[in-house]
Amino acid sequence: VKVYCASLTHESNSFSPLPTDMASFRELFLCRPSAGEGVDILDQPLLECNLRMLSLERGWEVVDGLYAGANPSAPTVRRDYESLQADIVEPLRAAMPVDMVLLFLHGAQMAEGYDDCEGAILEAVRAVVGPDVTIGVELDLHCNITPAMIGNADIIIACKEYPHTDFLPRARELAGLCEAAAKGEIKPVMAFARTPMLGFFHTTREPMRSFVHSLFAEEKREGILSVSLAHGFPASDFEHVGAGVIVVTDGDAALAEATAQRLAEAFFSLREEIAAPGLSTEDALAEALAIGSGPVVIADASDNPGGGAAGDSTHFLRAMIDAGITDAAVGHLWDPAAYDLIERAGIGASIPLRIGGKSGPLAGDPVDAVIEVMCIRDDLRQLMFDEPVPLGPAASVRVGGIEIVITRVRNQTFGPQTFIDLGIDIPRKRIVVVKSAQHFHTQFAPLAAGIVYASPPGSVSTDFASYPYRRIQRPIWPLDTPPFSAFGQDWKA
Ligand SMILES: [Zn+2]
Repeated sequence: VKVYCASLTHESNSFSPLPTDMASFRELFLCRPSAGEGVDILDQPLLECNLRMLSLERGWEVVDGLYAGANPSAPTVRRDYESLQADIVEPLRAAMPVDMVLLFLHGAQMAEGYDDCEGAILEAVRAVVGPDVTIGVELDLHCNITPAMIGNADIIIACKEYPHTDFLPRARELAGLCEAAAKGEIKPVMAFARTPMLGFFHTTREPMRSFVHSLFAEEKREGILSVSLAHGFPASDFEHVGAGVIVVTDGDAALAEATAQRLAEAFFSLREEIAAPGLSTEDALAEALAIGSGPVVIADASDNPGGGAAGDSTHFLRAMIDAGITDAAVGHLWDPAAYDLIERAGIGASIPLRIGGKSGPLAGDPVDAVIEVMCIRDDLRQLMFDEPVPLGPAASVRVGGIEIVITRVRNQTFGPQTFIDLGIDIPRKRIVVVKSAQHFHTQFAPLAAGIVYASPPGSVSTDFASYPYRRIQRPIWPLDTPPFSAFGQDWKA
């Protein structure tokens, strides 16, 4: 078997204040074998390379295309996006003939002039390989599925868990099904049913937990090869934003469509119960203090860098200072200018510092305070699920009874270890505010006395009425109130 592997992942937030260019990819992950760039990272256990690793394990001949990922931010500038797309398509053209193409993409990538990057990539790849080569795609569940994606891939599988702890088993399923398809043992047929919903849905809570179990049960039914729930990514402002269900069957188009439609309607019926809660700053602090013991973790979901926010908002920091709250921690707050001043002042210094609030009006005003520098390090890594990723230069500072992790590089907060490594005693805090919507849950839940989901103003708020949408399809919940008949509306247009 000769397989072509590539990956390109970027979750594009139309409302993010942070532009995306080639440097954004270079900062996180960029390997372009055709240009000889970054090839040394290929052998590391990175999720971008899961499909490549599984292919090598199976003894297949692997041709490497692009492997690239950037932290979520605004749609990519056109010239750099087109260069990345060419880095997927051109090495494939040179490698032809191949038996199979395996791609790891995000599913909510946009660029200047491209509303649907994954659709554009798959169209270009299909044009190169023709109709008979199997194309398999793994996606993040925060994907907005489009007709160009379904129409040009043979099998699309999204991760099922949020936090996304299951990219590897989903990649394994994809490789197995694509192998069977390439050998002619199965004949995959795919259908998608759109669910007109905007939201973030934690699979750690009921009834989402049970709904995920029901998806696994569906996959055991006769003729069904795979079932994926696309949660959608609400901050991509284009016509196909929203949730839906992808079903792959063995040669049975009617079964694929009927199953997708039935599951989409079942998912829609759960909407009020499964929508992520999002308390205001004041209500979240009150709820956290009411729990009585610590540490209570408050998810500052609206300012999650993992959804395209800057990670520099000050709503919680200011409210906790104003309320005289002590034994609290906040992080990772992105502020490169403040970090540089901290580094020059040095450990133990006391300096006046302007903290955060610089990326735009949603971030709130900066906080001016005299801070004490606790710790400075540039060697820290944090576990992103199972994968250690560099944090970049980081410092901890103290303002009254609040300790803050300030980073030079924008990072979602995945776990408590980076705070601890910077001298912040997380288990003894009453309140820990994290810049994360849900991925923090895996590592923080085991030590948390409680978890509170908050949604102050920010670029990935759960208050969808606050988004300046211009291009999404209406009606859509929760902006519009059902009953409305919007299933499948114009999706095939
Ligand atoms: Zn995601």
